[in-house]
Amino acid sequence: MHGQAHSGEGEQRSVAPLVELRGLRKRYGRGNQGVEALSGLDLTVPAGSLYGLLGPNGAGKTTALRILCTLLAPDAGAVQVAGIDALQEPRAVRRLLGYVAQEVAIDKILTGRELLELQGDLYHLDRGDRQGRIGELVDLLGMAPWIDRRCGGYSGGMRRRLDLACGLLHRPRLLVLDEPTVGLDIESRTAIWGVLRQLCAEGTTVLLSSHYLEEVDALADHLAILEAGRVIAEGSPAALKGALGGDRVTLRVREFSTPEEAGRVQRLLEGCPGVRQVVVNQAQGYSLNLVVEHEGVVEQLRRQLADAELPVFALAQSRPSLDDVYLQATGRTLMDAELAVAGSRDPKAERKQSMR
Ligand code: ATP
Repeated sequence: MHGQAHSGEGEQRSVAPLVELRGLRKRYGRGNQGVEALSGLDLTVPAGSLYGLLGPNGAGKTTALRILCTLLAPDAGAVQVAGIDALQEPRAVRRLLGYVAQEVAIDKILTGRELLELQGDLYHLDRGDRQGRIGELVDLLGMAPWIDRRCGGYSGGMRRRLDLACGLLHRPRLLVLDEPTVGLDIESRTAIWGVLRQLCAEGTTVLLSSHYLEEVDALADHLAILEAGRVIAEGSPAALKGALGGDRVTLRVREFSTPEEAGRVQRLLEGCPGVRQVVVNQAQGYSLNLVVEHEGVVEQLRRQLADAELPVFALAQSRPSLDDVYLQATGRTLMDAELAVAGSRDPKAERKQSMR
């Protein structure tokens, strides 16, 4: 099987996959208390891509990444990295990849450099190479001013850069990152994005999970949307946006509609020629999101709504964004999906919401 990589010019070329996940299933716990984290997940990551795994809290991103990195066994399914079966040969696969977990407990007494030296020993880097490699990573990640200070005093952004350096020490072909910028300030986030872009340009395949649409939009040349443990859409951001066709319109008939009123408007719009994909956006006061096939449709639907005594209160028109792709694929905004998870009192999700 071959994935599609996109050049800067938007043309497509066929690239062999570096990662193939097939039919992954994973359940935590038993019986009624159990949670199905993965329910038949398929994913193909082309070599050389910067691949974003996008999904709300609880979609199964961490579970999928931990299985790929041989840290967790699936109940069913297959995992291949560079043609190697990860379930049969986990050690060989571990040599190919670096994993930057969501939360890493960093020793507080050691300095960042000492921690990297220790990590280098774990990877069996020889002493000369180890110092050279640490020097490269200190430069790459801008860590020189603080790498010889104790880790206990590091900020979140410093800790994340150090985690990243640990994952990169052995020059992996595949770098896997679980929510690399969650809770970070803009400056640290931008710095990490720059490093990931550079690594990818130098040939490292990067697979990251995120629940930030803007992060995936800014970084990824491929993405998959995960919901309830399976992939529900995948492709390049440009192809996914392009597939929506037409302009996106957000419309409201009053500042905050009721669900019933939004439903009425939705049914009316669905009957208008040239209007497609009408979805109620709960997170934004029950506004309506839709696609119009051409400019004239907007005037037409304004008239039809006015005739039905639902005159347009506000209307915004734009080219399709990744938000629209997400909404179209899942029927709700990413924010609505996160609110639903927070409402179900997932302690992990609540913690992350509070970090925003
Ligand atoms: P997040 O962004 O919050 O990390 P995620 O997309 O990475 O979410 P997972 O962490 O893979 O999702 O979780 C998928 C589902 O499995 C969730 O419902 C979660 O509560 C549950 N889950 C994850 N780990 C465990 C565990 N060790 N024991 C029980 N349930 C778990």
